Amino acid sequence: MTIIVTKEIDEQGRIQLPKELRREMKWSQGDFISIFKSDNFIILDLFEKAKEQHCSICSKLKCIMRIDDFGFCESCVELMKYEIEDIGQHINLNTHSNV
Ligand SMILES: [Zn+2]
Repeated sequence: MTIIVTKEIDEQGRIQLPKELRREMKWSQGDFISIFKSDNFIILDLFEKAKEQHCSICSKLKCIMRIDDFGFCESCVELMKYEIEDIGQHINLNTHSNV
């Protein structure tokens, strides 16, 4: 990680991102930026890209599965697998009771 520039926070809590950085990141006016907080630092990322990385259920980073615009992390996928298996068993039971 490289420090590119040091900026002062203004009275409204804003900092200006250098033009060169915005150009390099392909960020432009009107884009939405997501802010991720770790213990001692923050990460800025373009919202659309960030959306792909966050679980739609628990908001955890690192999605392993996507359905349309929704991403899901490993633990939520595991949870859904059990739920789907459970639903499958109920469907099987209903099918057997109709036979
Ligand atoms: Zn999740």
